[in-house]
Amino acid sequence: MRDTQLYSQILGIAKPWKVTGVQVSLVDDEVEVAVAHGGGQLVCRQCGKPCPGYDKRVRRWRHLDTCQLKTVLEADVPRVQCPEHGVVTIRVPWAEPGSGFTALFEALVINWLKVASISAVADRLRLSWNAVDGILQRAVKRGLSRRAGLAPRKLSVDETAYRKGHDYITVVTDQEQGVVLHVAENRETHSLGEFYELLSEAQKSGIESVCMDMWPAYIRATRDALADADHRIAFDRFHVAQYLGKAVDQVRRQEHRRLLGQGRCAPEGSKYQWLRNRSTMDWHQQRGFTALRKASLKTARAWAIKEFATRLWGYQSRTWAHKGWQRLLNWMARSRLKPMQQTAKTLKKHLWGILNAVLLGVDNSHAESMNSRIKTVKVRARGFRNKQRFRNAIYFHLGGLQLYPDGIKG
Ligand SMILES: [Zn+2]
Repeated sequence: MRDTQLYSQILGIAKPWKVTGVQVSLVDDEVEVAVAHGGGQLVCRQCGKPCPGYDKRVRRWRHLDTCQLKTVLEADVPRVQCPEHGVVTIRVPWAEPGSGFTALFEALVINWLKVASISAVADRLRLSWNAVDGILQRAVKRGLSRRAGLAPRKLSVDETAYRKGHDYITVVTDQEQGVVLHVAENRETHSLGEFYELLSEAQKSGIESVCMDMWPAYIRATRDALADADHRIAFDRFHVAQYLGKAVDQVRRQEHRRLLGQGRCAPEGSKYQWLRNRSTMDWHQQRGFTALRKASLKTARAWAIKEFATRLWGYQSRTWAHKGWQRLLNWMARSRLKPMQQTAKTLKKHLWGILNAVLLGVDNSHAESMNSRIKTVKVRARGFRNKQRFRNAIYFHLGGLQLYPDGIKG
């Protein structure tokens, strides 16, 4: 078999294209495959209408290595003169317009990027960082443009830190599909608002619940966008537990200081015991903890309140749920523990959304696990040059997108 024939088969070059020459350079470890258009009717890339030929342009594409040699396709690509679109290059079957890589090569890079950083892939494939990054950015753009028929029912909205300090991004997750739907800068009303703006009326009315922290900007954005938002916004158990955990900790610290002042033995080092869930303790820990609790410290009362709250998430009826939570809030208000009383005020103000979370049976555990996956993406990249790149990396790894070029199945 002649090498031109061999390469036609390896590269899958079919009529009207044909391989016209193969040149191997062992000095550069490279093989260059010349491909030519065999003539026939030319069509415009934009509208598909037959058009007269105009001229030809030399183009090159990096392809998958063959025989361990870096392999490059080179072709004189005809340009046509379309009455509507002017002079345009015709489409080639092996690559997307504007790309310097064949579709198969881009798919290879995409596969590698799923498990390695941009720099690692660039090193391995002897490409520049920018070239690999370009493939990633295009893949995300392609994936997002293909995502049309979304019908999310259960959403989670959460913030995640972009850099240390107060630099955040907002992440919207589809709880059922387990994918990131939207990443926006900051955590303002418009950060979430821009997501709702992308949705049709039908998509918006299909949303059953939006799980979130009691964050005014997210509440406002959801109220602006969704009818009946006050029945769909859910303040979930993880965030409520966080507030209560913080209050227990404040009580503990205040008490620690008070006991130190009196020269009495304080529950030194017990911080984590009070924050922990009892069911995760072993026998020794439980016994020690019971003793600690019996000391009738203020911390014990605060802890009992936090424990009680964990049992209030199973109600089926709004009336009973309301009664249960009201009992908790009354207890907190009467507790004579300042941090608990303050937290009670916050919870009372948001009780409507807490009750929604109870009755809709939703929580933010998906968003929490998504958050840790986002951290993994961040660690792997060892930081991002800007938020836009961070955003696209999240879409790439966690967006559930179809990233490959046309015609290539994932
Ligand atoms: Zn055209």
